[in-house]
Amino acid sequence: MALTLFNTLGRRLEPFEPLKADRVGFYGCGPTVYNYAHIGNLRAYVVHDILVKTLTYLGYMVEHVMNVTDVGHLSGDDDSGDDKMVKSAAERGKSVLEIAEFYTRAFFDDLDRMNVARPQVVCKATEHIADMIALIKRIEGAGFTYEAGGNLYFDISRFPHYGELALLRLDELKAGARTGVDKNKRNPQDFVLWFTKSKFENQALTWDSPWGRGYPGWHIECSAMSIKYLGEQFDIHAGGIDHVAIHHTNEIAQSEAATGCHPWVRYWVHNEFLVMDRGKMSKSSGSFVTLQSLIDAGYEALDYRYFLLGGHYRSQLQFSFEALDGARNARRSLLDRVRALADQVEVLPGAYAPGQAAGEEAQKALDNFRAALEDDLSAPRALAELWSLLKNPRIKAEEALAAAFTMDRVFSLELKKAAGERKERTEESEETCREIERLVAERAAAKKARDFAAADRIRDELKKQGIILEDGPGGTVWKRL
Ligand code: AMP
Ligand code: ZN
Repeated sequence: MALTLFNTLGRRLEPFEPLKADRVGFYGCGPTVYNYAHIGNLRAYVVHDILVKTLTYLGYMVEHVMNVTDVGHLSGDDDSGDDKMVKSAAERGKSVLEIAEFYTRAFFDDLDRMNVARPQVVCKATEHIADMIALIKRIEGAGFTYEAGGNLYFDISRFPHYGELALLRLDELKAGARTGVDKNKRNPQDFVLWFTKSKFENQALTWDSPWGRGYPGWHIECSAMSIKYLGEQFDIHAGGIDHVAIHHTNEIAQSEAATGCHPWVRYWVHNEFLVMDRGKMSKSSGSFVTLQSLIDAGYEALDYRYFLLGGHYRSQLQFSFEALDGARNARRSLLDRVRALADQVEVLPGAYAPGQAAGEEAQKALDNFRAALEDDLSAPRALAELWSLLKNPRIKAEEALAAAFTMDRVFSLELKKAAGERKERTEESEETCREIERLVAERAAAKKARDFAAADRIRDELKKQGIILEDGPGGTVWKRL
């Protein structure tokens, strides 16, 4: 079998065939860095990570590009409301660049803690304004724009494929047009490519352009940067399901208008939402949970990763602390199982090299694991394969571990580290035991010499390390608190 992905463009499962034989160009929409990422956002990036690691596992070279939005994203994706960055900076009494730097760092710290691999290219919108202006000029040159009220708009009526991704019917859209939309727009779905002062006077960052001093609309950055780094056509574009109707629809319109390529992107992969009791987790609804708040509540970042692996990316996933407790317990048992197997081997094996075959039963588990991922990235099924591998009494410990480490190339649950810790812990504890015995003997000698101050010092020192001493008729015994 080969990899099959559900393509939002066409709404069907399709065998994956990259444009170039063994290379995959992949663009995933990145964060708008005006606040911490919430755990719903992090679901999107873990899904990207599973996709990238699956492709790598299957032998592709992946060129992964992610943008960081630090200008131009208004609170409404349809060009309404305030600029999220400007608003956040004003509320916090900081500059936009300070806010961007702070939350960009926090975002990548979260990804690091969840073992999400960093993309090869991370590109900031503010550092690609010239690329955006160049792309807008191409769109303008091809006749898809108009100027109104000081802004440059994309005219969707000139683009026959508009809305294909989201299955939008333009005639229905017009009928249901909302009131209160930007009066400059000829069609409600037209969108801004370049804002000048007409939007807000207080935009913090502005640049000169052929249309006046101003700043770019949000959608153009993803088109400009993905084309810059991946070429005029590339393989996969991903993001959350909320981006289908506006952001990705507009990205397609402007990219295809500029380049004339159709389809611009061959596979569109969208993750469903993480939801809470009160609905979709979002920054505005108040149900805002960050990774740090989970850690403060006593969970580890990988407990949350494990929780996410338990849901298929195209299904909504219900977050609750009970469910997270379940994931934490399951992950602990998984690591215990790995440590128990590690205890049975002299030397820890490495993961299998690509193409290297395991014994029959372990190989069957690896084949099933691969098939699960090839079937539209079924992480829950792949995880079930890891469990059955580790529980299979017919598979020798060494082989089970080697196969588990191989699977962990995709899961990134640090199984090898857990296996190694077991060994280190036993060695370390023997060493610690010897040191404790030495101090206990030293204390006994001090007491015998009636140097009670020295004896108490040793007792206190051990206590600090969590060791308590109990003196009895047979001598002193020690135990851990
Ligand atoms: P943003 O920083 O708001 O642009 O969002 C970053 C990514 O998170 C986008 O791909 C969104 O589609 C995705 N996203 C936002 N909310 C959720 C959610 N509750 N569950 C899953 N993904 C989400
Ligand atoms: Zn985007």
